Amino acid sequence: MTADALALSDALGRLATTPRLLVALDFDGTLAPEVDAPLQARALPEAMDAIRRLSALEQTTVALVSGRDLASLAEVSRTPDEVLLVGSHGIEVRVDGHETSLSDDERAARARLSEAVHRVAEGHEGVFVEEKPAGLALHTRLADEATTEAVHASAREAVGALGGMHERVGKNVLEFAVRATGKDDGIERLREVVGATGVLYAGDDVTDEDGFRALGDGDLSLKVGPGETRAMHRVADPAAVADLLAELAGLREHLGHA
Ligand SMILES: [Mg+2]
Repeated sequence: MTADALALSDALGRLATTPRLLVALDFDGTLAPEVDAPLQARALPEAMDAIRRLSALEQTTVALVSGRDLASLAEVSRTPDEVLLVGSHGIEVRVDGHETSLSDDERAARARLSEAVHRVAEGHEGVFVEEKPAGLALHTRLADEATTEAVHASAREAVGALGGMHERVGKNVLEFAVRATGKDDGIERLREVVGATGVLYAGDDVTDEDGFRALGDGDLSLKVGPGETRAMHRVADPAAVADLLAELAGLREHLGHA
């Protein structure tokens, strides 16, 4: 066993002894190998088995934390109701089969945001608006450069006038939301809901670095695959994640949480 593998095994052994455990997992690239068609993605059967074992244990909660919206995450993950789901980078949460998302105030703000941005986009060729759970995305990849610049400037002015909105810039897309989002928010929320004394979070992507930021002493952060990370430990791929979850389930069962 390498030094890294030994350190991970030690950390897993310590985490298994925590009184109330939260096992939070990214989905795509972490439980499910990447596929071209997003709705075809499925968790490895070994990962699903381990998740079922962990979910069945006392004082042990499993949650999926994804950038997908909640409906898409529920469809591809096919997890039992006791598995908590956090979609849209922390905005949408399914707890005990009940979904919670925006407050009444946020819903009203979202409606004002939508109206303002649709008004800006109207009549511009190649510009379209995609509705998102907590806001929207203004797409300009089909528009020319001059139109893109003009539309972005107008949108920022209109949204700025509303106040309190959050902006995220992507490739040919400008996103506005009524709530700042990150997987760290999602994990903090889950830690509270569950009353967790120890948290495992595993993820493979740049947005998972936000998730790792929410972890501290007594938690276990796990990067899946290559790339720079703030996580304490690393495994190669979803198959290795499934192995680790099975090991954790075995340790927890042995410690009498069954
Ligand atoms: Mg991922």
